[in-house]
Amino acid sequence: MTINDYLKYYIVTLGWSVFPVKPDKTPYVKGGFKSATNDFNEAVKMFSNYSDALIGVATGAISGIEVLDIDVKKQEDGTPKLGEKVIEVLQNDYGSLPETLAQKTPSGGLHLFFKRRENKPMKTKIDLLPGLDVRADGAYVVVASPQKAHYLGKDGNEIEGKYEWLNSINKPKLEFAPDWLIDLTQARDKSSAIEIPQLQSIIKQKYGKDVKVKDYGTYYSTNCYMHDDNHPSMLISKTTGLIRCLACGYESDVKKDFGIEITAIAEEETVDAWKVLSEGRIDVRTAITTEPPDYDFVIPGLQSGDVGLIIAPGGTGKGFLGLGIAISVSNGIPICGGLWETATTPPKPGKVTVLFAEDSKVDITRRIHSIVNFYLSNNIELDIDLLEKNLCIVSLNGYNPKLINGNGEISRSGFYEAIIELASGSRLTILDPYSRFKAAFDENSNALATKAIQAIESIAKKTGSSILITHHASKFYSLNQNADSRDAGRGASALIDAARFQINLTTMTEKEQKKFSNISDRREFLKVSMTKVNYMKPKPEEWLQRNTGGVLIKFEPSSGKQKVSKPTNANERKELNI
Ligand SMILES: [Zn+2]
Repeated sequence: MTINDYLKYYIVTLGWSVFPVKPDKTPYVKGGFKSATNDFNEAVKMFSNYSDALIGVATGAISGIEVLDIDVKKQEDGTPKLGEKVIEVLQNDYGSLPETLAQKTPSGGLHLFFKRRENKPMKTKIDLLPGLDVRADGAYVVVASPQKAHYLGKDGNEIEGKYEWLNSINKPKLEFAPDWLIDLTQARDKSSAIEIPQLQSIIKQKYGKDVKVKDYGTYYSTNCYMHDDNHPSMLISKTTGLIRCLACGYESDVKKDFGIEITAIAEEETVDAWKVLSEGRIDVRTAITTEPPDYDFVIPGLQSGDVGLIIAPGGTGKGFLGLGIAISVSNGIPICGGLWETATTPPKPGKVTVLFAEDSKVDITRRIHSIVNFYLSNNIELDIDLLEKNLCIVSLNGYNPKLINGNGEISRSGFYEAIIELASGSRLTILDPYSRFKAAFDENSNALATKAIQAIESIAKKTGSSILITHHASKFYSLNQNADSRDAGRGASALIDAARFQINLTTMTEKEQKKFSNISDRREFLKVSMTKVNYMKPKPEEWLQRNTGGVLIKFEPSSGKQKVSKPTNANERKELNI
């Protein structure tokens, strides 16, 4: 390909604006990137004056692209490629970068090209983090052409070579930059959580090292105080306080190493505090003299707007109980044929949002089909129109809709915001199971579990919906057959402590089977125990029986009968042909 072939491709096919650049990467023309053109003939004329010109592309709005420049050169003292390591840390903390158009630079660096988002452009940041630059508005990059570049590298070494596309330039795949990367270019301007001289003097005192701390917005960088280091190899996260040396692998946190809290204070929503206090005041006389308002229970024990848990060993039927509750609330009918006296006082009907993160569309469709058919053929009242209107069920099909990342921050995946939008105005939202709605962090970490539950509580607050989360019972409790204990949930206790409501689902034990004379196969039966309620006396244990297709229906072991509510409109059913 000749230089003109390249120019044609960049300008005509990709719509980029170009200008000639000297082999040392400085512009040949006055004004530099400001003289860039997207007129092919003009460009050909411009480039014909310089036989050794490289092609410069103006980044940002003018070409609709933004470039992440990752420095992967090896440091002379053996310190590993810093830019590459920093990218590893970022992807670990925030999420992976998409596969997008990329080129190799003569020094071994990497340029990732992103499509510019009109409503959320990146900012140009040279030294965004150690080894990383972002070139967007008001900047340019050199792209592949027939000519060789010849320039002095950052370390003073001469570099000679070509820029080369790493993926087929004939089918360029330009993706948008992830939110977190765009945010990092903005955060770079934020003020620090702690003064740099203070940090440097603490390190000097504790570790006897003179280090240079630099503020990168979301992170500080410093020379590592654990090994002999001349580079900004250490990253200190301002949001979590995590300390990581990219060279020697040292990991710690500021509390441990410096005895201080570094976590930046999250920007809070401003509120009219006085208004909140005034509006929250209880009129004492009215409270005494009038009939108090009732609790608004979504299902017995779960108050509107609260977060609750369904704890069960794997394979017990949490999903079916969740669906049973969802169908009940969306229709205002008894739960699973009448759990907790809902045969006489069914839940108030309302919108229900259910997010199944582990089950496929086929599985969920089959379940809904089984439940509705079972209900209708057993005279359980059901209004299909209301069901369609009120019930929103989503299969995430093995996807991890992370609400928080491994640092306990709201994940940049976008699911937190999307779920708030979807569940807004719901009376009940079911998240199944808990483990999928967070990053894969240590399940025993109370700090991270607290962050996860706080994120879920804030969804409840923002949507006005109460939330039921399904969660696996721990192996210990399952094996010891006390999975009906309040502490049976797997992992950190923070989740259990924060929930205002909890039900445990357990299979019938042999001992329990012996209490009832009429049970032949105990595996068909599940015990539902209300292990935590805040606003009423817990309802007594109840039993569910598994029916065709896994449908759970209330069962009375004493009578040996399934409990179903009164018959309903048979004509309607005929019309629906069910
Ligand atoms: Zn180190």
